[in-house]
Amino acid sequence: TEAHLEAIEGAGALNAFVHHTPEIARAQAKAADARIARGDQPDMCGIPIGVKDLFCTKGVLSQAASKILDGFKPPYESTITDKLFHDGAIMLGKLNMDEFAMGSSNETSVYGDAVNPWRAGNSEAALTPGGSSGGSAAAVSAHLCLGALGTDTGGSIRQPAAFTGITGIKPTYGRCSRWGIVAFASSLDQAGPMTRSVRDAAIFLRAMSGHDPKDSTSADLPVPDFEAMLTGDIRGQVIGIPKEYRIDGMPEEIDTLWQQGIDMLRDAGAEIRDISLPHTKYALPAYYVIAPAEASSNLARYDGVRFGHRAKLSQGDGITEMYEKTRAEGFGDEVQRRVMVGTYVLSAGFYDAYYNRARKVRTLIKKDFEDVFAAGVDAILTPATPSSAFELGAMEDADPIQMYLNDVFTVTVNLAGLPGIAVPTGQDRRGLPMALQLIGKPWEEGALMNVAQSLE
Ligand code: GLN
Repeated sequence: TEAHLEAIEGAGALNAFVHHTPEIARAQAKAADARIARGDQPDMCGIPIGVKDLFCTKGVLSQAASKILDGFKPPYESTITDKLFHDGAIMLGKLNMDEFAMGSSNETSVYGDAVNPWRAGNSEAALTPGGSSGGSAAAVSAHLCLGALGTDTGGSIRQPAAFTGITGIKPTYGRCSRWGIVAFASSLDQAGPMTRSVRDAAIFLRAMSGHDPKDSTSADLPVPDFEAMLTGDIRGQVIGIPKEYRIDGMPEEIDTLWQQGIDMLRDAGAEIRDISLPHTKYALPAYYVIAPAEASSNLARYDGVRFGHRAKLSQGDGITEMYEKTRAEGFGDEVQRRVMVGTYVLSAGFYDAYYNRARKVRTLIKKDFEDVFAAGVDAILTPATPSSAFELGAMEDADPIQMYLNDVFTVTVNLAGLPGIAVPTGQDRRGLPMALQLIGKPWEEGALMNVAQSLE
């Protein structure tokens, strides 16, 4: 714990940790020491971790990287952090992220950009660690913690993991409780671990998982010992290669990496099978209707009354002005864009044309996956991202849709509620990490991580 606290002090330039909690960490470390001395050592006992700012942590600033939650210290603990602390995990602090987890570069954060610890060749240019869990990715990659909590609504664990050369898994929807995690798009949001190896992810995920009566969408299923499932034996596993993920304009090195991954799994004894997921091309538009729709509803609670920031009012201002001014000041541009898009697609005149249509597309995407799994495929191998990390600021003047394209390979997994893992598998020509994604059957994270280990 002391070594990590020291490393964090020395890595301020990465802007990964945005709230430091050394007193909590030291007290938890002491308690963990005492526990270990008694011979009581759960898996996470004494493990120093970082927590994405989206998690509510009791008495500790939890702002979802937004001005509107300025000063918010929840009077309660999220189920996941509570479970981890019960197991003896140590919180080093809260981690940077895109505001309300909306973004793919950590550039929408009220705390400023998190910075990728990697550099391209000899270049000094600062790169994005990806987003929205950019602080989590930067911290784990730079050895500021042994693992970090992330959340993934459309790729926010997997894309930053890919950009920083670490492992990140989004479990099956319902595997982990969402209670106490600031809601973005409730039907898509899942928490997951970000770590430096698949084995660490397996240990971490088990400690986070399980039924929670406080989240009606958390599944009442046993949590397997994922680590014990990492046998290294993938002989006979059928790995699907979906042709729709070979998109136009994909850099050649991503294609080469994908082929390398195929070869690695084949060499390990897997059977490689070409498959089709025909509705893939509609996933990104469907996601960018459904996610903003749910966000516009979830973010309605930030009204200047209950949490955080409230605008200064002028003489004669009423409650409407209070809402308007507070929300205009408190939400950043991207969040306002999502709220406007979401409100529009849910409005009486457009509901059927956009929101209902997107929901139908979502069902078709889910069915695509069900069909290939029913036909005997065990896991699906795709690239994790359409590029490696890009420079901070590079997308500043770009159309917001350019940023959304980052999620082209990851959103399908959230729409279908499946587990997906990003594993670092190679480097691009500038020496930056690149990753592949494996998509698994519902509730089969253990089998998925076992295949993923063959790519490490
Ligand atoms: N980049 C996607 C978005 O902005 C995904 C974010 C996430 O997974 N939280 O919506």
